[in-house]
Amino acid sequence: MKIDVLTLFPDMFRGTLGESMIGRAQENQIIDIQIINIRDYAENKHKQVDDYPYGGGAGMVMQPQPIFSALEAIQAEHSRVIYMSPKGRTFNQNMAIELSEEKRLVFICGHYEGIDQRVIDSWVTDEISIGDYVLTGGELPAMVVIDAVARMIPGVLGQKESFTDESFYGGLLEYPQYTRPSEFQGLCVPDVLLSGNHKKINEWRKEEALKATLNNRPDLFEKYILEKKLDKYEKKVIDKLLNDNISK
Ligand code: SAM
Repeated sequence: MKIDVLTLFPDMFRGTLGESMIGRAQENQIIDIQIINIRDYAENKHKQVDDYPYGGGAGMVMQPQPIFSALEAIQAEHSRVIYMSPKGRTFNQNMAIELSEEKRLVFICGHYEGIDQRVIDSWVTDEISIGDYVLTGGELPAMVVIDAVARMIPGVLGQKESFTDESFYGGLLEYPQYTRPSEFQGLCVPDVLLSGNHKKINEWRKEEALKATLNNRPDLFEKYILEKKLDKYEKKVIDKLLNDNISK
């Protein structure tokens, strides 16, 4: 997958995208990330990229010309062009999976009060928010989305890492994880995980996943029990959890 990121702060990406899994995916040529400095495309003498908002109000707005020119230069016209924005659809795992199937993604990172609406109207195919809060710029949100999308591309995660048991993938939050030693400062790993009994381990994990989802994300829990075809064991656990909840 080819990823182009338009930003006023290219240095923000250097460390993050060059390390760990994303760094490896670039080395292995599974993804190719280009960071484009919007300021390089400003046509005025002072390389200014922002100006006061028409109609008044606080802050500055990113001008259309440098962004239009950058998008034209990278020939973004047939690509998904994503503007990171608090006004966008809230990002989630399903969107990460869907975007991971594209051949190319272009991200626009806003700053100040955001970008001129004409960029959005002319170029942007998706406005994406990473949550109901306002950050200073679109760089961190773009990195969040790139990371979540990249790990869904086949070959990016190593064989040892799998996302199918992870939070959200199957509709639930993940069960608790433990590693060696089995006892640390008097704190023990649950016996079932040391038992070697895979049926019991899977049942324990399912119960813990349901419990975590009910406690932390009741919205997801409700969706799960309404939309999934539940097996006998899940039904039993869910009845127990709901009864325990009522009697609390
Ligand atoms: N004036 C804008 C508003 O009220 O919607 C907020 C602008 S914000 C200070 C500057 C830039 O940060 C935005 O253009 C966007 O690119 C990015 N940004 C801030 N919060 C974000 C979020 N929750 N999700 C995605 N991008 C965000």
